Amino acid sequence: MKIAILGAGAMGSLFGGLLAEAGAEVTLLDVNQQHLDAIRHDGLRLETDDRACRLFNLAACRPEECREIPDLLMVFTKTHQIARALGSARHLLGPSTWILTLQNGLGNVEAISAFVPRGRILVGVTTIPADFLGPAHIASHGAGFIRMGTADRSADGGEHDSADCCMLCQVVALFTRAGLRATADPNVWAAIWEKVAFNAAFNALCAATGCKVEQLQLVPSGPQMLLAVIAEAIEVAHACGVPADLERTQAMALKCFTTHASHQPSMLQDIVAGRRSEIDSIDGAIVHAAHLHGVPVPYTEMLYTLVSLIDARQALPASSRARGDHEAVAVSS
Ligand code: NAD
Repeated sequence: MKIAILGAGAMGSLFGGLLAEAGAEVTLLDVNQQHLDAIRHDGLRLETDDRACRLFNLAACRPEECREIPDLLMVFTKTHQIARALGSARHLLGPSTWILTLQNGLGNVEAISAFVPRGRILVGVTTIPADFLGPAHIASHGAGFIRMGTADRSADGGEHDSADCCMLCQVVALFTRAGLRATADPNVWAAIWEKVAFNAAFNALCAATGCKVEQLQLVPSGPQMLLAVIAEAIEVAHACGVPADLERTQAMALKCFTTHASHQPSMLQDIVAGRRSEIDSIDGAIVHAAHLHGVPVPYTEMLYTLVSLIDARQALPASSRARGDHEAVAVSS
């Protein structure tokens, strides 16, 4: 299968590298020229719990330089980068090219469906972790899984037609060969909403306060607020007709206090590095859906405002921005 990966950062490079090793013809598409040059000259370095390797069987270029129409284009930019990235890759979307998104957040299918019909979009969720250590150097430590389905099904399931099944099954089989634990999930939207609920709580709370995961327990109301945000998001999922599971999501969150104690969620990492966060597609999307369905979400709304303010302040020119040693702490103190 010919695969193009649009957005070859931490996740895109990891998936691209593993899929190429499994026999797919992979092209990494990105705008980070240093990263592209390093892959072309020195190969892609991958470090996992089992091994460290350097892969040379990948093409890497900017989207506008690529001419090869893929069977599957995976979008792995940050969520707010989808429209611009797909705009520069429009010439790669042939009449039978499918798009797969495993990005976090909500609204990704809607953004992608401006470029291909919903019937050619696969959507899912992944808990596989990846870190960008530097140009052409990616690490992934710890296990994870992928659940995916076709995007044009109703939120609570429904039957696949055979063409959908064919592409979905081929992609699941290829991922499995690549060592990526993937399943076709008839309830993929429940899995997506559960991850969004989890991220809306952990990512936004840590981003707004500068706390690592375990530090949310420094005051009793920290874990309480975490669980309250999850409960709000799951309530909104139910109002949207998605059978997301509250107990499972809250249990998964509480488990992180032991399994990921010193972890800095990606939204906090983005803020510390001065990058725009994914708050709009996570807490923002929940607030938007809550308003449509008349569900009160006061905790999520507050976190959305706090992190949006941090993002907005960071976007100001440096000269007009209040100075602080640590952006997130400056807001929480
Ligand atoms: P990342 O920032 O490492 O990678 C994004 C890449 O997109 C970058 O290399 C960037 O240069 C590229 N990009 C930006 N604009 C582009 C454009 N116009 N054209 C082409 N490329 C462009 O991010 P990531 O950590 O790999 O995350 C990607 C998505 O996966 C996010 O939605 C994230 O929430 C989700 N996710 C990440 C993890 C993780 O552990 N990193 C786990 C699960 C889900």
